[in-house]
Amino acid sequence: AKEGGRGRALAFEHEMEREVRERRELESDLREAFEYEKLNVDFQPIVDARSGQVVSSEVLVRWLHPVRGEIPPDTFIPIAEHAGLILPLGNWVLKKACAAAARCPELESVAVNLSPVQFMDPNLVEQVCAVLDETGFPPERLVFEITESVFLRDFGSASTKLERLRDLGISIALDDFGTGYSSLSYLRQYKFDKIKIDKSFVDEIGERSDGLAIISAVIALAHNLGLEVTAEGVERQFQVDALRTLGCDTMQGYYFGRPDANPMNITQIRKEDWE
Ligand code: C2E
Ligand code: CA
Ligand code: CA
Ligand code: CA
Repeated sequence: AKEGGRGRALAFEHEMEREVRERRELESDLREAFEYEKLNVDFQPIVDARSGQVVSSEVLVRWLHPVRGEIPPDTFIPIAEHAGLILPLGNWVLKKACAAAARCPELESVAVNLSPVQFMDPNLVEQVCAVLDETGFPPERLVFEITESVFLRDFGSASTKLERLRDLGISIALDDFGTGYSSLSYLRQYKFDKIKIDKSFVDEIGERSDGLAIISAVIALAHNLGLEVTAEGVERQFQVDALRTLGCDTMQGYYFGRPDANPMNITQIRKEDWE
């Protein structure tokens, strides 16, 4: 039994070592990919629930690893944060987003994800202004998507930061709404322009339009506070119907279109049977 215990401990140690090594490898691969401009951005359509037209687009960063294939951003963004790469990487994404959207007047806005590390960066506002200057993209057409984790650290500076961005004319969306612990209290404490209802709630909408209670309450609450609502992860016709009935403002998901490398492609999307 003792031998077995030692064997397991050893196996565990090896497993840990393997993970550390793999992470270090990915980190250096990511550094290289970024340096040699091997990362890309995709654009996913956001559709107006009333007209069925594409009005906006979320920008999603992509990394195609030469050996491991597509690495999801949920995996490599934390690595970029750990490696001190997230600030230049995030700035690069922003530049790509603004430059592309500047050439797509059909898109009223473009939405860019900000990691908490980017959001807390004391130089954020300056950097954003520089990108807007360089690309000639108007701040009124830019949306930043932030998650409530940015508020876990520092109340005061987070709300000052939000205000400075909004003063520039940039809109702020509270991302992954409902997945955290105290989303509702944040809505009271900070000023946002919109919320994005997380896919996990949209998944709850069933064929017999069950699972609507939470979404319905969230939409009503948001509208009472003067906030716009986007539903993400919309895949099925009955979800579209239910969300439209509830007065959801905009929708995003595979039903309308997958993320696409060419922003021009997504502006072509139109639902024929929309009334
Ligand atoms: P998110 O902000 O919640 O982004 C939505 C995710 O849902 C994207 O995954 C998108 O491709 C996926 N999605 C959209 N519609 C559907 C659908 O109908 N069905 C399903 N199954 N999935 C759908 P992705 O691209 O893998 O991004 C994952 C997360 O990575 C994002 O979650 C966001 O938090 C983060 N991320 C992506 N790009 C960036 C970036 O440029 N900067 C930062 N800081 N984070 C990013
Ligand atoms: Ca997002
Ligand atoms: Ca989400
Ligand atoms: Ca997310």
